[in-house]
Amino acid sequence: MEDSLHNLRHGDQPKIATLDIPELYQCVHCGLCLNQCPTYRALRLEPESPRGRIHLVKAAADGRIELNERFKEHLYLCLLCRACETACPSGVQYGHIAETARAVIGPPGSKLGRIILNLAFTQLLPFPGRLKILFGVLRLYQRTGLQRLVQPLLPRKIRQMDAMLPAIPQRRSQANAQVLSAIGPRRARVAFLNGCVMPLLFGDINDATVRVLQRNGCEVVFPKGQTCCGALNTHNGETSSAKEMARRNIDAFLTAGVDAIIVNAAGCGAAMKEYGHLLGDDPDYADKARRFSSLVKDAAEFLAQIGLAGKLGELRMTVTYQDPCHLAHGQRVRSQPRQLLQAIPGLKLVEMNGSERCCGSAGIYNITHAEMSQQLLQEKMPAIAATGAEAVVAPNPGCMLQLRYGAQKYGPNVEVYHLMDLLDRAYASGESSPANEG
Ligand code: SF4
Ligand code: SF4
Repeated sequence: MEDSLHNLRHGDQPKIATLDIPELYQCVHCGLCLNQCPTYRALRLEPESPRGRIHLVKAAADGRIELNERFKEHLYLCLLCRACETACPSGVQYGHIAETARAVIGPPGSKLGRIILNLAFTQLLPFPGRLKILFGVLRLYQRTGLQRLVQPLLPRKIRQMDAMLPAIPQRRSQANAQVLSAIGPRRARVAFLNGCVMPLLFGDINDATVRVLQRNGCEVVFPKGQTCCGALNTHNGETSSAKEMARRNIDAFLTAGVDAIIVNAAGCGAAMKEYGHLLGDDPDYADKARRFSSLVKDAAEFLAQIGLAGKLGELRMTVTYQDPCHLAHGQRVRSQPRQLLQAIPGLKLVEMNGSERCCGSAGIYNITHAEMSQQLLQEKMPAIAATGAEAVVAPNPGCMLQLRYGAQKYGPNVEVYHLMDLLDRAYASGESSPANEG
């Protein structure tokens, strides 16, 4: 640690800023978080641990070290998986510390890289129409064979990113009505977050989630004017655009008069549950943001709370479950998805060793820190193989893409499902089972 501080003091980009983070002073340096931290487990270096990063941020806040590129690298090698928060007996909210520090220092890397990220966060993610055009172009790039021609010519890093690009489906989410009725007696009125890339990459999963909600007696509304949750912005120091996106969502959803706001992507749910914190100093939105956050529920959390209704048919399969970090650590939702899986007749759930450990996806981390991301993925895939399961369930789009890539590149050759997809299949199987015929 002292070596690291020495290098930071002598960095070539001195930039002292005052960081005002009360959570910094809650850490008692016990170290109980260290072995839960993926970067510390991989590198065994204190500055790549939660305790080390807290120490660095505190030193910066006290003006003892400079906020140079090296400081940024330590802060950004962190996956923001928040496993350290689950492990911490003092309740240190490391996520708040890292996000506040990142908002002060901005992203690392070249000027061009920072400009591209800034454009993506502020000019792309908040605008569904622009994202749709981009994905349309990428689909053409894949379908016309251009990708196969161009890929070998790309620089290594870009080639790696290109190889991770999933096949972009033509079919997009059908869930674009304003209101869909409950099937059977109405038990709740809920609003659904479409998400930014979910309708473009996983439209079928959005549709499956909505069908499952309807079958569970939910009237589902899709508030107009909703936008991306802003999670990637918050995680990458783009706080002002994240706040703007949060305000747009609050305006769109709070007028819908719903019992809950349902999210089927763990990272989005975690970010939306934090709007109260994000807008805590905004006099016009602080109260509304807290109210909004109190309504946000992960789809599994909500369904486990109201109890599954209707007939689930058999799915004869053995699956294992990967806890998305922002569901397990960010929202402390671990038992509910398992409970729902175990409710499916014929399905066998086999626990995976280290299911709560990050798969290396972490938003755009698998692009910005490909090496560490791949290292974590290479640890994850044998853990999946050891379960003997034919499929892995991971209710978060980033984890699904990462695990599909892992299955293809490292094996085992498992299917990767979203929990809502399996529930939807089980309901469909229930409908077509002999007991329901005639
Ligand atoms: S958020 Fe994850 S990677 Fe970052 S310090 Fe905590 S445990 Fe380590
Ligand atoms: S973050 Fe929590 S677990 Fe980690 S060293 Fe500080 S007090 Fe201990």
